Amino acid sequence: SPPMARPPATRVMVVANQKGGVGKTTTTVNVAAALAQVGQRVLVIDLDPQGNASTALNVEHQRGVPSTYDVLVEGKRLAEVVVPAPDLPGLDVVPATIDLAGAEIELVSVVARESRLDRALRGDHRIGSAAELGQNRYDFVLIDCPPSLGLLTLNALVAGAEMLIPIQAEYYALEGLGQLLETVEMVRQHLNPRLSVSTILVTMYDARTRLAAGVAEEVRGHFTHQVLRTTIPRSVRVSEAPSYGQTVMTYDPSSPGALSYLEAAREIVSKGAPA
Ligand code: ADP
Ligand code: MG
Repeated sequence: SPPMARPPATRVMVVANQKGGVGKTTTTVNVAAALAQVGQRVLVIDLDPQGNASTALNVEHQRGVPSTYDVLVEGKRLAEVVVPAPDLPGLDVVPATIDLAGAEIELVSVVARESRLDRALRGDHRIGSAAELGQNRYDFVLIDCPPSLGLLTLNALVAGAEMLIPIQAEYYALEGLGQLLETVEMVRQHLNPRLSVSTILVTMYDARTRLAAGVAEEVRGHFTHQVLRTTIPRSVRVSEAPSYGQTVMTYDPSSPGALSYLEAAREIVSKGAPA
């Protein structure tokens, strides 16, 4: 009899960059929505106490709503806190509430404090049951990180296999990247050898300026294989979508921002997971 086709593994992508305002959240929600649009089953885990990804995906995240806090600190199963994004078929969300702000400190005294999210994703029996990922429920998990390299981001880096780093096409774009890559190396050596920087996305690209082109070129020089061909243009439509509880994919699907995110998602799918 022919060999059984093995279902493709879930790709867990950590969207991280310790600089604030570089487009982590915007990239997370729009790449996720675009992936869902092309038929992928996607889970977004909001790991930023600000809950901006939860806002853009239009899920409740006021204090007390079941959230990433309950998974990390209380040991709840992901299945207990996951909700569907109301406007985006195929996309589920684990929201973040402001409770998560205390988690950096509360986790310090918790056993295996840097592996809480990893265990939850694996459905570790000591924490929960039923392995969500083992059943291949999702093709992609995207984790939106806060702008720091603390315990929350560390939990994402231990749980993920790929990193998606958004880089803003601005002055000092590469500043701080060295520190991020050092952290990745430390995590690879001590906590998660699977981790790799698979994907870099140049965002807020302004084609009219030589500066943006120069930054993009410099980034490509350093990360030839990781940088997506697609860049995301700077666009008001992208930045105003969250105030309507939307991603640009539904807010203005034919806008250059939406089309670029769609193209980026297609590239991510077709490149496949790193070997
Ligand atoms: P981070 O999560 O890294 O802090 P955000 O995704 O919240 O960054 O983006 C920072 C700001 O830049 C937000 O106000 C967002 O709306 C805006 N922004 C992000 N991407 C774009 C874009 N392509 N065009 C215009 N504004 C953008
Ligand atoms: Mg953010």
